[in-house]
Amino acid sequence: MGVDMFAFKEWLRAEALAAGFARVGFASCEPFAAAPLEAWFEAGGARHLPYLDQETMLDPQKLWPQAKTALVGFFPYARPEAVPGAAPDSLKLSRYLWGPDYHAILKPRLAKLLASAQERLPELEGRVCVDTAPLMERPLAVRAGLGWQGKHTLLITGKGGSYGFLGVLLLSEELPPDAPFPTDQCGSCTRCLEACPSGALSPFRLDPNRCLTTYTIETEAEPPPEVATAIRDSRWAAGCDACQEVCPWNRAPLWGDPELWGQPNRLHREPAETLHLGSAQWRVRTRRTALRRVRDRHWRRTVDLILGPSDPTPDA
Ligand code: SF4
Ligand code: SF4
Repeated sequence: MGVDMFAFKEWLRAEALAAGFARVGFASCEPFAAAPLEAWFEAGGARHLPYLDQETMLDPQKLWPQAKTALVGFFPYARPEAVPGAAPDSLKLSRYLWGPDYHAILKPRLAKLLASAQERLPELEGRVCVDTAPLMERPLAVRAGLGWQGKHTLLITGKGGSYGFLGVLLLSEELPPDAPFPTDQCGSCTRCLEACPSGALSPFRLDPNRCLTTYTIETEAEPPPEVATAIRDSRWAAGCDACQEVCPWNRAPLWGDPELWGQPNRLHREPAETLHLGSAQWRVRTRRTALRRVRDRHWRRTVDLILGPSDPTPDA
């Protein structure tokens, strides 16, 4: 007797929820409409993101030909007590950088989910994608019914807010898809556009060449003068949450569970003047954290930009 794919899908959803994902949906792996992404590439959106591949992003089956269904999960990471810049003289680090390396948390959970699913359906194949594959996770999440992309382009899960990682498990079987999220719920709100320190946002469009995150995380390229000024004035030293902080949908978001998500990094709470860290200190302080992807010299350059140049604290 064949497997009931509706029942199998609901079993998978329950397992993913038990693994810490707060929202879980299923989408087909059909290609996406090409025009918006093409326009974004043509406008130079990927100038500092050379690893992005337009053709693969548009079609999940170019990434993995067996892909038929995407399980998409939203994993909350923010905590009520973790407020960037709240500690005296501290620098601001994006909330997703407060905990351990999320790849090391999400990937094993999705891999375990796949292994359990294969026990029930041995012919099933799968591929885990957490942020590093050329996959459009946010449009997939909308297609899977998790929420909409706000005017700041991030996924908003309604009252659950936007502070969450997206993890995707591509599956080789066709499972009945969930209903896509019907339409955006931003209405006439423009708070994120007004709050962006560097003017990187227009409705539903983000210019990465003006976004603080690009120059504090993604690239060591020199920021344009107006972006450098925005980094200095806003004190966002790694990532930026300004557009999410003002969003009304984040008034009472889903909070990340420290049991699932590890302990916070003390770099968030220490006075900025102590954070001109040398290479060895940076390696120790960022071990197994999401901040490790920022090179120590990149971090020091950003701290210098905010505080003015200074010699690194001698390595202990
Ligand atoms: S992350 Fe910061 S700089 Fe980037 S779009 Fe949002 S508010 Fe603007
Ligand atoms: S701040 Fe307003 S416009 Fe921006 S994403 Fe949130 S609801 Fe939408």
